[in-house]
Amino acid sequence: MSIADNYVRLRKELDTQCVKCGRNPSEVLLLAVSKTTGLDGVKEAISAGACDFGENRPDELIRKSETFPDVNWHFIGNIQSRRIPDIVGHASLIHSVCNISHVEKISNAAKTIGKVQDILLEFNISGEESKSGFPPEEAFNLLEKCMHMENICVRGFMTMAPRGDEVAIEKTFSGLSGLLERCNCEFSVKKDGSVSDNRFVLDQLSMGMSEDWKQAVVWGSTVVRIGRAIFAEDF
Ligand SMILES: *Cc1c(COP(=O)(O)O)cnc(C)c1O
Repeated sequence: MSIADNYVRLRKELDTQCVKCGRNPSEVLLLAVSKTTGLDGVKEAISAGACDFGENRPDELIRKSETFPDVNWHFIGNIQSRRIPDIVGHASLIHSVCNISHVEKISNAAKTIGKVQDILLEFNISGEESKSGFPPEEAFNLLEKCMHMENICVRGFMTMAPRGDEVAIEKTFSGLSGLLERCNCEFSVKKDGSVSDNRFVLDQLSMGMSEDWKQAVVWGSTVVRIGRAIFAEDF
């Protein structure tokens, strides 16, 4: 199977899974995670219809986004403070924000170039020590802080599920989905019952990878991040 075949097949499977879950296929973005492939691989995926790509290293994000500026580039990797201006300069959506000091730096970098940066907050739902992400209990506080930063727009949440353990995977995805719902309630209606002037509409859930995207779609994922199932020869 070629990269183009893989992409087309996955998009079809994703559409089928959406319909099975009573969801509209247009609600779920297939993010092609191109971190293991080169410019040729990206080109092939674009020829098969891919419009959104994810990278986890700033240098590759810069190189690929400058070569292919007509598709959308997402940053999904570990964020280092000193690379924030590079990331903000090249990413339409940053999925992996898990440090509050980075939020302010992202906002400042975005302000410098006259941009409002879309971000997702990453949560560690499973509680595994090896996973990055904010503890879910901090969600309300975090959103309140983000609200005061002009050049940030929080679009939703992101998480990574533990590998291989079906029950833990379900718990992770249902947990993130429930958290998003609670945050939307908390932030759209104030304590006195009036509707708040919250400028965030939390409608994005970035969850699901090559091995677990089907479960993620069941739990309301709006972005599945697929790497190996598109770009690896032996997946
Ligand atoms: C690499 C990566 C993916 C894609 O993983 P696959 O298992 O190859 O589909 C998704 N999300 C993040 C954050 C990644 O680093």
